[in-house]
Amino acid sequence: MTEHVTETGGMGSLAHGAGDLERRLADAVERLGHGLRSLAQSSARERGLSPLQQQTVLALVRKPAARREVSALAAEFDVTSPTLSDAVAALERKGLVARSPGPDGRRRLLALTDDGQEVARQLAPWDGPLLEAFARLPVADRATTLHSLLQVIADLQRRGVVSVVRTCTTCRFFESHAHADSAAPHHCHLLRAPLPLTDLRIDCPEHQPATA
Ligand code: SF4
Repeated sequence: MTEHVTETGGMGSLAHGAGDLERRLADAVERLGHGLRSLAQSSARERGLSPLQQQTVLALVRKPAARREVSALAAEFDVTSPTLSDAVAALERKGLVARSPGPDGRRRLLALTDDGQEVARQLAPWDGPLLEAFARLPVADRATTLHSLLQVIADLQRRGVVSVVRTCTTCRFFESHAHADSAAPHHCHLLRAPLPLTDLRIDCPEHQPATA
């Protein structure tokens, strides 16, 4: 039997091996999820918000104007429109969000008020510990981790587990492994250029679903 370093650091029989690697990866992702939920809850609580209200405020800073409306955000957050509507109504009562008619006159676009902008600025570092932990990894490790996570997200989207994603790996312009360069193996047919792993996008404004 092949000898391997055990989890306790000694040499011995294979304790886990690659056979349950996916189990440990899933457990690691679950741990990350717990940690992130805890960070989000404490950050939101400090400012008298629910985690969904915090997520909404942050999205109104980052999302393009056309996606700043209840049904689009509800789909991205995987919640129902009434649930998100309640969160938005609470933010309106707090004076952090205002609604205005969209260009089509029907949709109500959401925007942060001045107070909302200030709260968004305060909330911005909520996931700082995770960013700092990633920043301590070598760039090549960050790039391959991003690549692997985007492939997993694409797989989950195909199975209907994840709904709205605008990642390169789910885009119709994306061609997988079109180039021999291991640092830039994929190709974007919209940009007409190889995609370095470090440049893979997670929320691309030009994204079009691969199934469209
Ligand atoms: S259009 Fe955007 S999401 Fe699609 S492959 Fe190009 S960079 Fe990636």
